[in-house]
Amino acid sequence: MFSNSLIELDRAHLIHPVASYRGHENLGVRVLTSAFGATVTDANGKQLIDGFAGLWCVNAGYGHDSIVEAAAKQMRELPYATAYFGLGSEPAIRLASELADRAPGDLNHVYFTLGGSDAVDSTIRFIRYYWNARGRPGKDQFISIEQGYHGSSTVGAGLTALPAFHAGFGLPFDWQHKIPSHYAYRNPVGTEPEAIIAASIAALKQKIEELGGAERVAAFYAEPIQGSGGVLVPPKGWMKAMRAVCRELDILFVADEVITGFGRTGPLFACSEDDIVPDLLTVAKGLTSGYVPMGALFMSEHVYQTIADGAGTSAVGHGYTYSAHPVSAAVGLEVLRLYEDGLLENGRRAGARLMAGLESLKDHPLVGDVRGRGMLAAIELVVDKERKTPLPAAAEPARRIFDRAWNNGLVIRAFANGVLGYAPPLCCTEAEIDAIVERTRRTLDETLADNDIRRAL
Ligand code: PMP
Repeated sequence: MFSNSLIELDRAHLIHPVASYRGHENLGVRVLTSAFGATVTDANGKQLIDGFAGLWCVNAGYGHDSIVEAAAKQMRELPYATAYFGLGSEPAIRLASELADRAPGDLNHVYFTLGGSDAVDSTIRFIRYYWNARGRPGKDQFISIEQGYHGSSTVGAGLTALPAFHAGFGLPFDWQHKIPSHYAYRNPVGTEPEAIIAASIAALKQKIEELGGAERVAAFYAEPIQGSGGVLVPPKGWMKAMRAVCRELDILFVADEVITGFGRTGPLFACSEDDIVPDLLTVAKGLTSGYVPMGALFMSEHVYQTIADGAGTSAVGHGYTYSAHPVSAAVGLEVLRLYEDGLLENGRRAGARLMAGLESLKDHPLVGDVRGRGMLAAIELVVDKERKTPLPAAAEPARRIFDRAWNNGLVIRAFANGVLGYAPPLCCTEAEIDAIVERTRRTLDETLADNDIRRAL
C-alpha cells in the first residue's frame, strides 16, 4: 500500500528533526497527504483538526489559492534573484517595506533569512558586530531564559534552554548564560505578577553582575511567550520591565517572535501588546504561514546605523544564497494581505473561544494549569493538583497522549512533561474550536484510564 512503502522508505532514508531515531524506526512515519482550512488528511484518509498549525506556523490555514497563485506567478516571472551585488527583487523590497511600516517603533530595517534559527543566529552575528563597531568588543556575553527556545543552529541552540538541544552537542558555549523563567505555575516566588517580575529583574541584574557587569553583556533574549518551553506566558508588564533593565544598562534587547508573530497572540507583533520596542526582533513561521520557508530579523534604527557606520565602505560579511528570496517574499506579501483582510480578526475571536474552552477543562482531574493568549495556549497535566505532581514518565505522555488525540481526530503538541500545546490556524471556525476542546476532553478521559496514570494518582 502507498503508505506502507513510504514507511519503509522513510525508515531507510529520512532523518527526522528532534526525534529518537530508534524510536521513530520502530513506530514508523505517519504521512499527511492533503489539507484544507484547519483540517489535515493522512494517508489512510483520516481527517484531523490541526490544533498546532503544523509546527505553530500555518497561521492562515491550508489551501489558500491566492497564496499558491502568488508563488506560481513569482516563479514564472522570476523564481530567483540574489540580493548580493546590490541586486534585488520587487517582492522582497515591498515586503521589507510593508513589514517595517507595521513593526513596533523604529524597527525599520529587515534582514530576510530562511527560517527562525538563522534569524536568531544572524542577530548574534550582528550584535557582535554592533558592539565592535561601538568600540566595546568586551560586551560579548549573551543571556537568555530557562525553558527558552531560540532555534537549532550551532550558536542559537546554545541560547535555547532545552536539555536535548545541548546534551552531546557540546553546548552551550561559555558565553551563553541563562536566568530562570517566569513560569508562573511552578515559580518558587509564587503566582503574583509583581513577585514574578521582581524576581526576573533581580535574576537578570544578578547574572549581569556575575558576568562582570554590563560592560561584559551584549544582549538579552526573550520570547513574548515562551513557546517550545511549554507555552509559558509572563505576567503583564514582564516584557516591559525586562526591556527597561536592558535600556538602563545599555544591553541590547532581542524579542524572539518566531512563534508569537503574525497574529498568534492577536496582533501582528506581540511586542505591540506588551508596549515595547526591542532593539532587534526575529520572526519566521507565520511570516509565510509555512507555505514556503522564510524568516526575518528587524533592526532598530540605532542598531542598523551603528553597523552601517562601523563597516563604512567594507562589506558586512553576512549573507545567504536565499536571503530575500523572491518567491518566499511574494508569499509573505499575500499572507500579510490575508491577515489584514479578516484573518487577524477571526484569530482574535477564535482565540477568545479557545481560551474559554480550555478553561472549561479545569474541572478535569488531570488539568493542573491552563494558560495562553489568543491562539497560543497550553494545558499542563498533573496527577496531583495540590502538589502539582507531573505525569509519570512511565506513562509516556508525549507519545501516548499525541496518539490518543490523533485517534480522536486532533493534532496537538504533547510535550514529554505532560504539557499539551495548542496553536490552531487563525482561520478556525467556532465549530472547529469547540471540536478541539471536546476532542481534548475525550483524550484526557482516556489518559485518566491509562494504567500508568492510575497507578500514580
Ligand atoms: N525561535 C523561536 C521562538 C522558535 O519557536 C523557533 C522554532 N520553533 C525558532 C526560533 C527556530 O525557528 P526555525 O525552526 O524556523 O528555525
